[in-house]
Amino acid sequence: MNTHDEDFMRRAFDAATRTKRDGGNEPIGAVIVRDGKILAIGANEVTTSCDPTAHAEMVAIRQATSNLKSSDLRGATLYSTLQPCGMCTMAMIWSKVSRIVYGAGRDDVHQMYFEDRHMDTLDYINDAYRDDISLEGGVLKPECAGLYNPPEADVPVEEQGNL
Ligand SMILES: [Zn+2]
Repeated sequence: MNTHDEDFMRRAFDAATRTKRDGGNEPIGAVIVRDGKILAIGANEVTTSCDPTAHAEMVAIRQATSNLKSSDLRGATLYSTLQPCGMCTMAMIWSKVSRIVYGAGRDDVHQMYFEDRHMDTLDYINDAYRDDISLEGGVLKPECAGLYNPPEADVPVEEQGNL
């Protein structure tokens, strides 16, 4: 873990809390940092923008690359409150993010937040052509996991977005 990981994760946590409170979106937040500077703060906007691709990580990547006028985020770290899904993981590989840090992992929360049953999408990182991307989970894990339904929660089917 790096010195400021918890500080940046806290910013992602705040973004997650805000998007739930203000828009009723699932509370997921993401922050992109390079050279100690925040390039973008994104939050899940799927419900408010009627866009299934508007995950917090995607929103943050679009904001950062747009601000930089470059699609290359090499050297940047992306913080997410929840283990990224396959779509976001692929987007991070394509955007050349160097480091991925997440709070709660898929075993810490209900399966409703993930798209697949068995495959761990973070295996994509291991299978990617790139060898300059690293991954770390569990930063502020208790706080981040507290944003979500726990694994054993009895969530009504109509509230499970992945079914
Ligand atoms: Zn995602």
